[in-house]
Amino acid sequence: MSRFERTAYHLLPAIAYGDAAGLPVETRSAEYIANTHGTIDRLLPTTENPFYKGLYEAGTWSDDTELSIAVARSLIKANGFDMRAIADEHVTMYGQALQITKPNGQTVVRGWGRSTTTAVQRYMEGVPIEQCGARDGAGNGIIMKMAPLALWHIALETDHDEVYRDLDSITTFTHGLPVARVASRVHFDMLSYLSTRRFDAREFTDFAYWSALDHQRDVEESGTDVSQALSYLIDCPQPTTQDILDHTDGKGFYVPQTLAMAYGAFMAHNGQFAPSVYEAVNLGGDTDSTGSIVAAMTTIKGLEPRDIPRDLTKIMKLAELQQLSQSFARSIKTARAKID
Ligand SMILES: [Mg+2]
Repeated sequence: MSRFERTAYHLLPAIAYGDAAGLPVETRSAEYIANTHGTIDRLLPTTENPFYKGLYEAGTWSDDTELSIAVARSLIKANGFDMRAIADEHVTMYGQALQITKPNGQTVVRGWGRSTTTAVQRYMEGVPIEQCGARDGAGNGIIMKMAPLALWHIALETDHDEVYRDLDSITTFTHGLPVARVASRVHFDMLSYLSTRRFDAREFTDFAYWSALDHQRDVEESGTDVSQALSYLIDCPQPTTQDILDHTDGKGFYVPQTLAMAYGAFMAHNGQFAPSVYEAVNLGGDTDSTGSIVAAMTTIKGLEPRDIPRDLTKIMKLAELQQLSQSFARSIKTARAKID
């Protein structure tokens, strides 16, 4: 198995693990988590998530995994990036996810972000793809699902200008603000860095900061929130939990803050799987998203069998995730054979 196939093979279970690790404390603060749970270091049942009402077994995962599955399936089906295939797989997932009708009559999908939900509903109503996105969308809905797409392009050595075009399309499908496009591009650059270079914290930070400056220049009216959010890492290449909390909003729902928290958690433990994922979880905020983002980063950096936590077996529908990951790995292999 080539390196990329191996990464693809682990990717969806890893994302689901990070998602499930954070789900029990999604929206809670670091302080609340510390007071209630001490330090979380394993999968817990979900009992008090505001979107998942009731008791859910340890290993339950949410939209971060659902939408990463949608992206992976679209790549397999279309044999590469195809915006319509991606949108269609979102619709399939929308149909499978639990839908809740609010008192005002609005239908929402359990755990899905507002921008993604609205965009998929518009797409189903026949709105053209490029007009579906919420104009004010700047959440982390792309960062949390883009790892399969990033890995595909990294493995196939796609020209970066083409990658950025694809990323702009998938981003604007749901998230309209220019800052969201910058964040998607920066995150691709960093996943590409992790896949192709030996991780060095200082180099990683410099690279992330310069990538943010570059894309902020190229994407009109995108502001400087991404570079500003990441800048603290230049002075803290191995941040403590307190460093991360002092220099971010401790929530991570706004995508520049998502990156700042996820990268901080990753760097705090040199991108080791479980320590980095649980660092993100214990920071609080959008813990299932930051947890799954960090999990994808560490997988793309390269997982050793000893890095895989024992309680991975608790992950809901693990066999299905492994099967999908396997066919994703096979698709990458076939596509690579064509370019070699
Ligand atoms: Mg979620």
